Amino acid sequence: MMGKILVSACLMGHAVRYDGSSKPLVHPALERWRKEGRLITLCPEMSAGLPVPRPPAEIENGRSGEDVLAGRARVLEITGGDVTAAFIEGAENALKLARDTGCTHALLIDGSPSCGSGFTHDGSFSGRRLAGSGVVAACLRAAGIRVFAHSEIEALAATLEAEA
Ligand code: SF4
Repeated sequence: MMGKILVSACLMGHAVRYDGSSKPLVHPALERWRKEGRLITLCPEMSAGLPVPRPPAEIENGRSGEDVLAGRARVLEITGGDVTAAFIEGAENALKLARDTGCTHALLIDGSPSCGSGFTHDGSFSGRRLAGSGVVAACLRAAGIRVFAHSEIEALAATLEAEA
């Protein structure tokens, strides 16, 4: 049976980002996987009850999603609100859904404090990027799910082809 792929809901055109926007990804491989019924779509932050719109949030002090999961860092809104618990719950929801539906891989939008897998931001809300994972990507990787950023969709397609 073909493994399923967990996908960030904003990549599938759902208007779930903090500012009420989406970031649809148009690619023939994504369309093929959709037709094959392999895509499992989730917005982890909304699954944990966060609203749209919501204040932008970043992992504090240049830390990573791994630090958040280990209790060494918080996720803070630009307004100062502590949304750490919701981000961890979103990551746990993503992992549970991935396991329940047989997702072996994930395709997540990069840069988010949740879904980022190549980079996030440094916690200063100044746009400065930081190499590393958000909370969801860190949680999925720790469980053995292979995570790809949206910019790596070609690499995901090649990996799935090689594993088929
Ligand atoms: S949590 Fe993930 S799916 Fe939801 S808006 Fe942020 S990047 Fe998109």
